[in-house]
Amino acid sequence: MEITPLEPWICRKIGAGRAELTRQEIEAWQLHKLNETLSLARSGSAFYKRHLAGMPQVLSSLDEFRQFPFTGPEDIRRNPLHLLCVSQDQIRRVVTLQSSGTTGEPKRLYFTTGDQELTRDFFGVGMSTFVRPGERVLILLPGERAGSVGDLLRSGLERLEMAPIPYGPVRDPAHALETLNHQKADCLVGSPTQVLGMALRWRPEMHRPRSVLLSTDYVPAAIVKTLRAVWGGDVYNHYGTTEMGLGGGVECAAHRGYHLREADLYFEIVDPLTGEHVEDGEFGEVVFTTLTCEGMPLIRYRMGDRSRFLRGQCPCGTVLKTMEKASGRYDGFIRAGEACLQLPEFDETLFTLPGLLDYTLTVAGSEEKPRLVIEAQTLDSGLSEETVYRALRGIPFLDALDVRVRCCPAPHHPGSIAKRVILRETAEV
Ligand SMILES: [Zn+2]
Repeated sequence: MEITPLEPWICRKIGAGRAELTRQEIEAWQLHKLNETLSLARSGSAFYKRHLAGMPQVLSSLDEFRQFPFTGPEDIRRNPLHLLCVSQDQIRRVVTLQSSGTTGEPKRLYFTTGDQELTRDFFGVGMSTFVRPGERVLILLPGERAGSVGDLLRSGLERLEMAPIPYGPVRDPAHALETLNHQKADCLVGSPTQVLGMALRWRPEMHRPRSVLLSTDYVPAAIVKTLRAVWGGDVYNHYGTTEMGLGGGVECAAHRGYHLREADLYFEIVDPLTGEHVEDGEFGEVVFTTLTCEGMPLIRYRMGDRSRFLRGQCPCGTVLKTMEKASGRYDGFIRAGEACLQLPEFDETLFTLPGLLDYTLTVAGSEEKPRLVIEAQTLDSGLSEETVYRALRGIPFLDALDVRVRCCPAPHHPGSIAKRVILRETAEV
């Protein structure tokens, strides 16, 4: 098995100067860049000057960093300009993320040309895990604006002499399939449900992609299984958020978890309640710090995702850390009395149902016995509400909810590539 291309790339970036990288070299680089980032943040940002007051000026070890305060989405929402470390005329792109709640302010994130260049570089190298020069990549992500995710991916691929085909989010799966067929794309990059929508409508006389990269949302194993069964190719997962500069990590051919962009991001796993460091192998909340970002560095930013670092070496042989696929969010669950249900449990159950393209979950009513409305979007009318109910019985603690299911044909325009969230109704219906 080939080693992840992230390793030689990170080796070059940190100037290790040899073919083989060691953990010590990575950690020495991370400590050096953390000190640079802390210094930049203190001198450039009004927020960090206050936030880091009383903390050591210089770190002498990575362990010392564990005493530093966390940041989170609310810090960005409150006053994003206070986190900026450069003047506003150095900003090339502003990304506004709407809150999933009803009252939250949007989050605004700011990127310089240098920040965008780092992402572009990572995208190209990450894709070289499974795409060779000359191969054609259909990009099913928004890419119309300069510096958008699809645009950075396009230019990152071009740089490595791969052949991008910008398309955009899938609004009409039949049209996207026609493009796949006509352009003979070797690889598709898109959101899990939109690529699933194409796979379920695909016919054997059409062109078959060789690989797929799923991004932008939790990637259900049930969808990966379906894509492998339909197309026979390999399916890779990418982990990244806008806050990370769009890219965080990507799987290698071992599909064991994500290898991380360790020269640009310092990841930690902490206890979600106490904030204390947890050992490799233990589950906790994902926290990251940008190491090379110059516009709006984020320091110990709490992602809300639940994951862990895997112990032991990856079969690809890399010394890079491997983070397991996130298995839920600490703020995205349904509480019913003592029980706590996570969105991935619904994903893994519902996406095993033939013909299910997507679904929404809406919670209403009291916390003691909430009402849960599941609207299942189906390819045709073949999927009955009874079948959905039967599948749901496999989810532990579902009895704690008053569940109602509606099946409906999938809308022609599935909309944006926003992450799926649990919708909450505050008023009784
Ligand atoms: Zn690996």
